Amino acid sequence: MTTRTAAAPARATVYGYPRQGPDRELKKAIEGYWKGRVTADALRAGAAELRRANWRELAAAGIHEVPTGDFSYYDHVLDTTVMVGAIPARHRAAAAANALDGYFAMARGTQDAAPLEMTKWFDTNYHYLVPELGPDTVFTADPAKQVSELKEALALGLTARPVLVGPVTYLLLAKPAPGVPADFDPLSLLDRLLPVYAEVLADLRAAGAEWVQLDEPALVQDRTSDELSAASRAYRHLGTLTDRPKLLVASYFDRLGDALPVLAKAPVDGLALDFTESAAANLDALAAVGGLPGKRLVAGVVNGRNIWVNDLEQSLSTLATLLGLAGRVDVAASCSLLHVPLDAALEQDIEPQILRWLAFAKQKTAEIVTLAEGLAQGTDAIAGELASNRADLASRAASPITRDPAVRARTEAVTDVDARRSQPYPERTAAQRAHLGLPLLPTTTIGSFPQTGELRTARADLRAGRIGTAAYEERIKAAIGEVISFQEKAGLDVLVHGEAERNDMVQYFAEQLTGYLTTEHGWVQSYGTRYVRPPILAADISRPKPMTVRWTTYAQSLTSRPVKGMLTGPVTMLAWSFVRDDQPLGHTARQVALALRDEVNDLEAAGTSVIQVDEPALRETLPLRATDHPAYLTWATEAFRLSTSGVRPDTQIHTHMCYAEFGDIVQAIDDLDADVISLEAARSHMQVARELAAHGYPRQAGPGVYDIHSPRVPSTGEAAELLRTGLRAIPAERLWVNPDCGLKTRGWPETRASLENLVAAARIVRGELSPS
Ligand code: GLN
Ligand code: ZN
Repeated sequence: MTTRTAAAPARATVYGYPRQGPDRELKKAIEGYWKGRVTADALRAGAAELRRANWRELAAAGIHEVPTGDFSYYDHVLDTTVMVGAIPARHRAAAAANALDGYFAMARGTQDAAPLEMTKWFDTNYHYLVPELGPDTVFTADPAKQVSELKEALALGLTARPVLVGPVTYLLLAKPAPGVPADFDPLSLLDRLLPVYAEVLADLRAAGAEWVQLDEPALVQDRTSDELSAASRAYRHLGTLTDRPKLLVASYFDRLGDALPVLAKAPVDGLALDFTESAAANLDALAAVGGLPGKRLVAGVVNGRNIWVNDLEQSLSTLATLLGLAGRVDVAASCSLLHVPLDAALEQDIEPQILRWLAFAKQKTAEIVTLAEGLAQGTDAIAGELASNRADLASRAASPITRDPAVRARTEAVTDVDARRSQPYPERTAAQRAHLGLPLLPTTTIGSFPQTGELRTARADLRAGRIGTAAYEERIKAAIGEVISFQEKAGLDVLVHGEAERNDMVQYFAEQLTGYLTTEHGWVQSYGTRYVRPPILAADISRPKPMTVRWTTYAQSLTSRPVKGMLTGPVTMLAWSFVRDDQPLGHTARQVALALRDEVNDLEAAGTSVIQVDEPALRETLPLRATDHPAYLTWATEAFRLSTSGVRPDTQIHTHMCYAEFGDIVQAIDDLDADVISLEAARSHMQVARELAAHGYPRQAGPGVYDIHSPRVPSTGEAAELLRTGLRAIPAERLWVNPDCGLKTRGWPETRASLENLVAAARIVRGELSPS
């Protein structure tokens, strides 16, 4: 036995790497498999080749310990469900007959079996499949995927560290299976789950793993003392196993808070901690518990979820402090690199000067390696890298590109008054009633209509130069014409133009705003085979010219009913983009809000009386720690109001949110001061209407009566019944009738039928109202 007293040289590592391949080969192979064009063997071989290519690339870049098991055909939480044998009963037969098809069935559903629910992975834009557990769940170990991927990496002669979702996080992310009482606590299954993890760990050890990483990001959220003691029990159990690899418990996305002393005391061999952004507080907290003497600390100093170059000197200084706090210190990104695009060097259209400020997964890997080298051998060893990093940072800090004096002056001049409508809601609503003349229970939709194959073809044709702008715009106009005439025939009250011209509700605006960058290859996994290219908020934001006015006014020219203008709100613009890290988020939000305010005002000036500013991301952008909520909600609601407060009292401002669970932000919804809000509600039977009522929400609301996530057509009777339920919470003068969300993913036939039923339901229920 050797006891190592002197610090071992720092190792460079990552927790995970983009899975899709440089040309999204994985997406293509999987979708090909679904369509029967790619065989299972070809899919497996292609996937193995992508894994090997990633490991070779990481090793060649200087990463000492590569991650394994982070690869996934769909989602790593679903992989964990398979690993612990928690396949829901309705999928078990299919999974037993064919593991791969059963896996995809859990992810996507089949004719007979619904998929697992999908939800956001903490506050990222990645979505995982929610484990379904119950008192009868029997866990069994299925380490095959983890073991075989480890062996693949070891076969390349690499040092490899399997990465697993930890048992506590797995249970905390789970929900009661269908039919299980809602108050069932999946964490109560911990003692049953731990032996299964023990078995997997033993198998990984036998297969050659020196270290295994267990990811516990759920511990960066506010946790009850019961949950913390469960974590303590879990790691006491796993840590005291005799036949086990060394254990590295990882957390990321925020600070550990009360969970830090719990993990620091646990009999595990190391911790991986995030030291970026609000997780920087981990540093003082670690010192306060006396560090990790004799243990390994993996320091996440390179931001794994944003795309800016690291400040190497600052990271080195953090690392130097950490050196005194652990037996050894290794260097990593704050989280898996899954959340950033692959390679900034592929971007041909971004100015070279700006490109130097960007670091995608490949560039971050190089930063990690440089930092590990600097830590191990002293800064002289990385003098060249430090000098060029310093130059890149200085060029960004001093660049006139990022700063627009006019935008700054305008942003600084903003006062409270700018973020407030000129009249309070009761006066506005009277003016709007007179101006719009809508019936009780007015009907409307959320904005988008089906994005047909023809529209996608038109966009592809335009991009490929097969058609010109004029021809493209004719096709958009034709689509708008169809949408308007359908809505008139169906009898909707407030119409929309249908968003035919928009590829994506954020990208569409980002492309038109100065200060935003869009990428050509910056794909990031959103879920399964769906990848998005989040735009980059790179500089001060302004709006050189109107963005939506001509389409809205064109739509309005076709009808005498009001057409609702349709914009994406400032919070959502930030949430679905990579944000600046050189100024507070609230400042960026304010700039975007002012640009949108110009658009709102221009829409009004062009004759638009109803304007909707969508904020579907308001709830999901809530920080992970409750103490951080008030600051966020203050700037977020102010930004929304700033974008919508420049209009006349008789112009009606709508907003829209989806994804349920509004309970904890009702006050913020109220603070938006929108005249009308439409919300997702169909599946929860108007729960949100009751929540708004309980809060005393004073304005108009449209809890959705048509679940647009399913091709199912709601009957008139069903929609009417939901409306009656809504009316028990919200009076008729304030209740709107609309679907849960936009219709862009739906087909025309079900959209037509559903909206006709929705209008019929509104008419029936109007007829039931006693004349007041
Ligand atoms: N107006 C958008 C639409 O209808 C809203 C989308 C959303 O809420 N995600 O598509
Ligand atoms: Zn929505």
